[in-house]
Amino acid sequence: MKRNIFISILLPSFNEAENIFAIYSELTKELSKKVSRYEILFIDDGSTDRTIDKIKELALKHSEVKYIALTRNFGKEAAMFAGLKHAKGEAVIIMDADLQHPVNVIHSLIEGYREGYDQVIAQRNRTGDAVIRSKFSSLYYTVLERLIDVELKDGQGDFRLLSRRAVQAVLQISERNRFSKGLFSWIGFKKKVIQYENKSRKAGKSKWSIRKLIDYAIEGVVSFNHKPLRICLYTGVVTLFLVLIYISIMFIQILAHGISVPGYFTTISSVLFLGGVQLVSLGVIGEYIGRIYVEAKQRPLYLIENKCWRGFHQC
Ligand code: UDP
Ligand code: MG
Repeated sequence: MKRNIFISILLPSFNEAENIFAIYSELTKELSKKVSRYEILFIDDGSTDRTIDKIKELALKHSEVKYIALTRNFGKEAAMFAGLKHAKGEAVIIMDADLQHPVNVIHSLIEGYREGYDQVIAQRNRTGDAVIRSKFSSLYYTVLERLIDVELKDGQGDFRLLSRRAVQAVLQISERNRFSKGLFSWIGFKKKVIQYENKSRKAGKSKWSIRKLIDYAIEGVVSFNHKPLRICLYTGVVTLFLVLIYISIMFIQILAHGISVPGYFTTISSVLFLGGVQLVSLGVIGEYIGRIYVEAKQRPLYLIENKCWRGFHQC
């Protein structure tokens, strides 16, 4: 059944040349059956392959295809933000351009929106993922759930529908270090979760290296709470307490028995232990200061090289 709504599809794309045509044809097939009006908005995140050429080719032929090309690779978070800012639809669906997000889920997303939900989240199982990565992911989310203040669930990523209100809310958050899974959760609104089977990538490679995943994991922890700082404080207090007890015992022993041979082991181990605690604390504090530094600079999150809007700019 065709719904009378205007949907924007956001596709952050970084080196997805082999997938552009395929995702476009799958999307149009699905959308033309489901909604009265739609736009497909590609955000080329500084690809180094022929992604942008493919997108331009589509945009020339089809008026519902629009694109934004960023000047370099700013990362998926920035690409999504650029897309959200430019999307015109009354509801926006964010998807990956690599066909890992099955196009037929769009149907349920739109139905959820029709039922009045502001966020319809597609939650995946991890069948298409490498085993090690999915194990690490579920471990990470288990730990993260205890640590942070907003709710995050394993398998609930960026694949979701946001109503215009929800998009506006996300855009109001101006922070530079964006952990969008957290932001989507933070803005609240009525949410509905839909399950889907994850698929393997059609072509190209995942852009996530181990290094990037670790960075992302740290981002998740520190961008939403001050608990790591607090853990430092607690560790410091507990350590100090133990040290004071130890010193008192030593002092009483000295009073009772006089000075015995100072223990090399205790000295060196306490020095090392305290050094370690201090270093960890400094590291965590540094993490926050780094963030303050980046926020204070107030750089734009992305820069647009060119864009293509019918009736606004020549493509
Ligand atoms: N992506 C992007 N900028 C980047 C990295 C990725 O726009 O710096 C896009 C990518 O083209 C894809 C989506 O984000 O459409 C998800 O990336 P990927 O498939 O590498 O992640 P995974 O599915 O492995 O989590
Ligand atoms: Mg992918």
